[in-house]
Amino acid sequence: MAAKRPKSSRRNAPAGGSRRSPAAGGLVPRDKARAVLRAAGFRRSLAAWFRRAGRDLPWRRSRDPYAILVSEAMLQQTQVSRVLEFYSRFLDEFPTLEALAAARPNQVREQWEGLGYYARARNLHSVAKHVTRDGGAPAMLPSHPDALRKLPGIGPYTAGAVASFAFERRAALVDTNVARVIARFFAPRLNPKRGRDLKKIWAIAEAILPRSGKAGWAHNQALMELGALICTARVTRCGECPVRAGCPSLDTTKYRVRG
Ligand code: SF4
Repeated sequence: MAAKRPKSSRRNAPAGGSRRSPAAGGLVPRDKARAVLRAAGFRRSLAAWFRRAGRDLPWRRSRDPYAILVSEAMLQQTQVSRVLEFYSRFLDEFPTLEALAAARPNQVREQWEGLGYYARARNLHSVAKHVTRDGGAPAMLPSHPDALRKLPGIGPYTAGAVASFAFERRAALVDTNVARVIARFFAPRLNPKRGRDLKKIWAIAEAILPRSGKAGWAHNQALMELGALICTARVTRCGECPVRAGCPSLDTTKYRVRG
């Protein structure tokens, strides 16, 4: 007798099953079509919610690569409310890569004092020195994630964030918030803390990206916002979640989805 396929294998199949998608590999056409539809529904609901509920944050009004990089460095393991106290002041003091590169380490430290994890400021300072080392103005950060990754202290998340948020390139990004949202919605069996599962989560993040970089900007911001405000590590506010109708991790003990 043929073994029965577990029910969840289809439901948990990675979404975004276009031909280019590594996440859709191995799906039969009917499952692939479902995954594509599911990813499209997720994107639509997420985008509509973000237009309505997304916070107006200063770095979201900017496309200056340097300002975006500063915001990303500050936001690592730090609350938005805390970063808001430092962000504008830091940029007033060091408005450009050149200004930061020319600063002395103690001046940079002074502006970072109170924000913690000083290694982030050191890395930022190193990036500024690195990209201005040949002279010539204005110094520019590269726009491609692969080139950004070659800069000191820039990992895959920050490279994706700068490429997407500053240059509106079609680039995926996965931080802890995004990994949690993607795992809960698309692949509840994956554990973002396991290296090989995280790779699969990155593949899903790439597969569900909208086609254009501009739409990708809003999509990535929305994913991060959902992980920060609704689908949080400690509490899941499933009742307020814009994608609850299709979510296999919905807390059904508290919330029911109609329709
Ligand atoms: S329904 Fe709940 S578990 Fe699913 S994505 Fe939304 S907040 Fe997270």
